[in-house]
Amino acid sequence: MKTIYMDNNATTCVADEVFQAIIPFFKEFYGNPSSIHFFGGSVGREIVKSRESLAALIGASPQEIVFTSGGTESDSTAILSALNTMPDRREIVTTRVEHPAVLNLCKYLSRFKGYTVKWISVDKRGMIDVEEVRKSVTENTAIVSIMWANNETGVLFPVERIADIAAERGALMHTDAVQAVGKVPINLSKNNVSFLSLSGHKLHAPKGIGALYIRKGTRFSPFIIGGHQEFNRRGGTENVPGIVGLGEAAKLAMKNFDEENIRVKGMRDHLQKGLLDRVSQARINGCEEFRLPNTLNIGFEFVEGEAILMRLDEKGICASSGSACTSGSLEPSHVLRAMGVPFTSVHGSIRFSLSRYNTEDEVEFVIEKTPQIIETLRAMSPFSLETINTACTVQ
Ligand SMILES: *Cc1c(COP(=O)(O)O)cnc(C)c1O
Repeated sequence: MKTIYMDNNATTCVADEVFQAIIPFFKEFYGNPSSIHFFGGSVGREIVKSRESLAALIGASPQEIVFTSGGTESDSTAILSALNTMPDRREIVTTRVEHPAVLNLCKYLSRFKGYTVKWISVDKRGMIDVEEVRKSVTENTAIVSIMWANNETGVLFPVERIADIAAERGALMHTDAVQAVGKVPINLSKNNVSFLSLSGHKLHAPKGIGALYIRKGTRFSPFIIGGHQEFNRRGGTENVPGIVGLGEAAKLAMKNFDEENIRVKGMRDHLQKGLLDRVSQARINGCEEFRLPNTLNIGFEFVEGEAILMRLDEKGICASSGSACTSGSLEPSHVLRAMGVPFTSVHGSIRFSLSRYNTEDEVEFVIEKTPQIIETLRAMSPFSLETINTACTVQ
């Protein structure tokens, strides 16, 4: 059975070009880029090239890029740096729908480190209100951390306008752009964003590599303290294959950027329409107007997401669910809950996230199979609905 992979917001496949580019750096060019000898030096030059490719993708200059181990490290680095370099400011402004990498760090800082966190809410379309942000950012705000695109719904936030608000109050602006890089145009030379996080494995590079953009002139305090690597901003011998892979992935993303994203959006829109036409009582979660081109989060009323996923899986279709019932908690997604999605729909929410490696035939297959699955499950739903109801009223 062929796998139809529509879970690209969780992780992506490594592109063939990326894989080929990486291989020589395991056995042939394994030198330490910091070494004086030519063998290490030649590896160092590859890192320079990768940094340039990645910088070009986001409109940064190469000196503004620090390679990290991924999105999570970049997020922690940015937020903790702002707090360390602005010790008089004790507030963080963020949203209720951030990725756990930001959400749980902010909870930790509030519970154990005495910081005040101002949580920006979202409306039922998953959108934030810029005026609420404006009211929340004060002279006491060290950092505003707001994601560029939400990983569950794909909703895009007006990060550049918020960066202006932060700048007016002398606060730093961080954006977790892990889901946005490569999918929507980003030009950091044209805005006030201080820090931007990205991750390799969400754009067809390997897992365990990412980067943090640090705007030139921003005061910075490293998270990982050690050697002089990354211009003294991140200690530790460089993950050379990862860095080379991320550079190659950045080049690939730039190639035919518009055409590829339009093609992916076409497939996503087709999938959305196909499912809405064939399944009653289904609704889109998240603002359709400001949304990543690859993401479709759709709630099917009166069915359980985990059951849908299992049946999709039997057909070789990989997607993900809006609730985290698999973890045993039966906790619905914090994102969909913050949006006020009714519990009958939260639990039946499925995220399909596409990439340039999906095909129209795959979309057709999913449009054909999903309605049958929903119908079968709804025929037996009174029992499962009751289970959900009980589980949800407990907490
Ligand atoms: C995947 C993801 C992360 C975490 O990135 P890792 O490289 O896996 O640490 C952070 N933020 C968002 C929005 C993500 O989708």
